[in-house]
Amino acid sequence: YKNYMKLEFESKSQNEAFARVVVAAFASQLDPTIEEITDVKTAVSEAVTNAIIHGYEKATGMVRVICTIRDNELEVIIEDDGQGIVDVEKAMEPLYTSKPELERSGMGFTVMETFMDKVDVYSEAGKGTRIKMVK
Ligand code: ATP
Ligand code: MG
Repeated sequence: YKNYMKLEFESKSQNEAFARVVVAAFASQLDPTIEEITDVKTAVSEAVTNAIIHGYEKATGMVRVICTIRDNELEVIIEDDGQGIVDVEKAMEPLYTSKPELERSGMGFTVMETFMDKVDVYSEAGKGTRIKMVK
């Protein structure tokens, strides 16, 4: 079985909840448990929030969410065309944040890795960031 969807929206904070709910609705065809849906929503929320606040710090840009279902597995890709991450390894360390002044805890990537089975980060400075997660 295979299914695919792509969603694109402006990097505004009110779209974080929108993206989370759309992914949950799409994932529901896999007949997930409440816990699995909650895990996916939590991870999507972190990745979309990062695209909005870090990817596009000042200007507004577009965020894309691409979901693919393959058999009983859900792949979620969150991408932005924002400023990118210079050092991905460092960014993924628990408690690392480039914005400590904004009451950020630096736990977004750790949360994604905790609630999803696989998280891959591709990023290029000045070009953007793509987070690929599988559950
Ligand atoms: P928290 O998620 O706990 O509020 P945080 O967003 O700083 O804090 P992470 O989500 O783990 O922590 O991200 C770590 C760092 O990686 C960020 O501080 C930021 O520098 C960088 N980063 C993450 N996502 C992006 C992105 N889409 N574009 C550019 N930089 C990013
Ligand atoms: Mg974050």
